[in-house]
Amino acid sequence: MDPVLAIIGRPNVGKSTLVNRILGRREAVVEDVPGVTRDRVSYPAEWTGRKFTLVDTGGWERDAKGLHAMVAEQAEVAVSMADAVLFVVDATVGATATDEAVMRMLRKSKKPVLLVANKVDDFAQEADASMLWGLGFGQPYPVSALHGRGVADLLDAALEVL
Ligand code: GDP
Ligand code: MG
Repeated sequence: MDPVLAIIGRPNVGKSTLVNRILGRREAVVEDVPGVTRDRVSYPAEWTGRKFTLVDTGGWERDAKGLHAMVAEQAEVAVSMADAVLFVVDATVGATATDEAVMRMLRKSKKPVLLVANKVDDFAQEADASMLWGLGFGQPYPVSALHGRGVADLLDAALEVL
């Protein structure tokens, strides 16, 4: 079976946009309104000749549990099925309380985690990405899922731990 790379993070950080960028086509649903991706969706993917399975996550409804709990719970299921994780944070917003809830869950799992600072659309925004060092996953990878900036370097690094 191909190794599994799960993309996790709170709603609206750009997970589905990143999935589409990696697949090279628009397949995952991207919405300006948070919470559009239903549960977990798997896609066969390939990078530099290596095949892997990409898992997009989402589908959190705002129920009584609240957003933090839903995001953390979805992420936990995705992480349990994954060989490695891309933890996506919106660099233009910075780390939120929900991001920190996900971060604590990821710490407990022993899976390799790459921290993705998304929405770094140009060089000037790389300073926003460095603020995310504080999440404790080392060097954040600054990317623009929308424009493709930094995604090749991210995938090279992801395949090294997959
Ligand atoms: P998800 O909920 O995490 O799957 O996020 P989506 O992929 O649905 O994206 C949410 C919103 O962020 C959409 O309006 C995207 O166009 C936007 N977005 C995603 N990636 C980027 C990026 O790299 N730069 C910018 N400026 N916007 C982005
Ligand atoms: Mg989505």
